[in-house]
Amino acid sequence: MSDTIAIAIDGPAGAGKSTIAKQIAAKLNYIYVDTGAMYRAMALFLLRQKVRPEETEKISTLCEEADITIRYENGEQVVLLNGENVNGLIRTEEVGNMASGSSVNPKVREKLVKLQQALAREENVVMDGRDIGTCVLPDAKVKVYLTAGVSVRARRRFDELTARGEPCSLSEIEADIRERDHKDMTREISPLRQAEDAVLIDTSDMTIDQAVDAVIDLC
Ligand code: C5P
Repeated sequence: MSDTIAIAIDGPAGAGKSTIAKQIAAKLNYIYVDTGAMYRAMALFLLRQKVRPEETEKISTLCEEADITIRYENGEQVVLLNGENVNGLIRTEEVGNMASGSSVNPKVREKLVKLQQALAREENVVMDGRDIGTCVLPDAKVKVYLTAGVSVRARRRFDELTARGEPCSLSEIEADIRERDHKDMTREISPLRQAEDAVLIDTSDMTIDQAVDAVIDLC
């Protein structure tokens, strides 16, 4: 038994998990762990190897060659892929879609879940993802299932990409989000679902501050 404290935040893409989890971590002085970034780093590795999401066996073998680690610099999570800082390369729709495809692979999940559990044993964490409350940290002190309507989530993603100067289409993003939700919710291993003891928070009509306060109240 570890004596560290964990807060688990799960939910679909664009629900505001990372923004909210980061602020909660800062307020409580916990470490923020973005598990999606780990799946994205793995996806980047696989894209570089020119693997397609449906090449299950190839992914099972190749994922062993991807050494993914986490470091913290000025409070920011830095994801290292075989020693390379890939933070600036993993936030594209291409990588997100590949992550959604390759994250169904049991070998990929096994490897990354181990890393996530090890982090939570060492530090008090606010960890966000899809299966944190259900699989990675079933004993988390507080579990939140954060969601919002599809069109709200698509608009948020669109605004985020546009602010970064990345050209994108709102309708394509919405279609991608629907597809990603479907894949994440229907996969065989660790599908995205609300843990029985998780509190549902719908952020569709909430500001970030309101959502942060709602989670802090639970803590
Ligand atoms: O949260 P983010 O959009 O960065 O996650 C990218 C993809 O990684 C998700 O669509 C999901 O398929 C996968 N993921 C996962 N389990 C997690 C976190 C992310 O399967 N804990």
